[in-house]
Amino acid sequence: MPFRKNIWNHLSGEEREEVYKFAEIYRDFLSRAKTERETVNYIESRALERGFVDGFSESGDRMLFIERGRLAALYVKGKESALSGFRIVASHTDAPRLDLKPVPLYEDSGYALLDTQYYGGVKHYQWFSLPLSIHGVVVLSDGSRKTFVIGEDESEPVFVIPDLEPHLDRKVQREKKIGEALPGEKMDIIFSSIPLDGEKEKAVKKYALRLLEEKYGIKEEDLVSADIEVVPAIKPRDVGLDGALIGGYAQDDRICVFTSLMAALELENPDRAVLVLFVDKEEIGSEGNTSAQSAFIKKVVRRILEVEGTLAPYSVEEALYNSEALSADVTSALNPLWKEVHDEKNAAKLHHGIALTKYTGRGGKYVASEASAEFVGKVRKLFDENGIYWQPDVLGRVDEGGGGTIAMFLARYGMDVLDAGPALLSMHSPFEISSKADLYMTFRAYKIFMEKK
Ligand code: MN
Ligand code: MN
Repeated sequence: MPFRKNIWNHLSGEEREEVYKFAEIYRDFLSRAKTERETVNYIESRALERGFVDGFSESGDRMLFIERGRLAALYVKGKESALSGFRIVASHTDAPRLDLKPVPLYEDSGYALLDTQYYGGVKHYQWFSLPLSIHGVVVLSDGSRKTFVIGEDESEPVFVIPDLEPHLDRKVQREKKIGEALPGEKMDIIFSSIPLDGEKEKAVKKYALRLLEEKYGIKEEDLVSADIEVVPAIKPRDVGLDGALIGGYAQDDRICVFTSLMAALELENPDRAVLVLFVDKEEIGSEGNTSAQSAFIKKVVRRILEVEGTLAPYSVEEALYNSEALSADVTSALNPLWKEVHDEKNAAKLHHGIALTKYTGRGGKYVASEASAEFVGKVRKLFDENGIYWQPDVLGRVDEGGGGTIAMFLARYGMDVLDAGPALLSMHSPFEISSKADLYMTFRAYKIFMEKK
């Protein structure tokens, strides 16, 4: 049985080649999709290539739904009506990062700095003295929209939050608790440092504003109507002598976005209707009109039933109630240096396949979504019968911490939901680590779940 085994021990030479090839496409995706909008753009272009049509304006057996450029869904018609329930695989497009405040630009001590606010579960110290890039969408006063990226291309400058040298950090950092030593309000980035000629007051800020206007046509007040995200300017790389691991930013949860997207693109005539969801705002509790709690899911299902000819009072609710879902999100891999936070016998390990997390939450299973014995049994059987390597998982020792996914929001519709995804080392860091074997196995797992009843 493909249960809790190191996948590398069971791959043929040919399969290894396939695993490595798949990982290269993934690394390329990671380097292009550094924000939720870029992720949705990638989903859109791959789906259109594959013959998906825009489901809000056209009808088809393969439909693509995009809303506000930040969340997406793919539908593939099944042998059965969608009314008898979808097979759903749902991941999230957002990742921890720094956002610019509405009035970010200020001058201090000869520098133009940008004031940020962190988004999601950021460990502050990991973002200091790290090369950063800026990805922005700005709506100008005339209503036109500008997008720009600075710092991803080798020819462009990067940005940085300057940390303090060890020679001077004793009182303000080292003797403090880690959370207090590097406060969020200090996470401001150096934007520029040359003063504008002939100016005495705020000359550096003035020169920065001039550059912004000359290069991008952006004025200071335009930054209010903007989504500007600051992310690590690090390229995804192979990790380890054997190249078995991938290091890169935002693999939580883009590894699930990628694997579920690839699976959906390959689907042919699945048993049940398939819905692949890519939602936003998971990292801040799934609030807002692009989140898993937004009206998007019902809107998409209503449209699918309309195309199918089964739309009737309460049919949207019925279709969702009859559905079965994998909440496609990452979990924490056993960290060899910090084993004490894991319950080793229940912890997921890299290279050991897709992790099935029966329940999330914290403490006494608070705010948990727990899958039933029956549904875990069903998924396990499907994986066992199709040679999918999988492993059980809980997120850390009891009372050590915890976390949640979008599973609980899907469960509210009445459907069965199980958390299933690859484990990562250093989750939420600027350089998260995944396993190439798990990446490939997760793709195969999602594909089987979408395909077979
Ligand atoms: Mn996640
Ligand atoms: Mn996360």
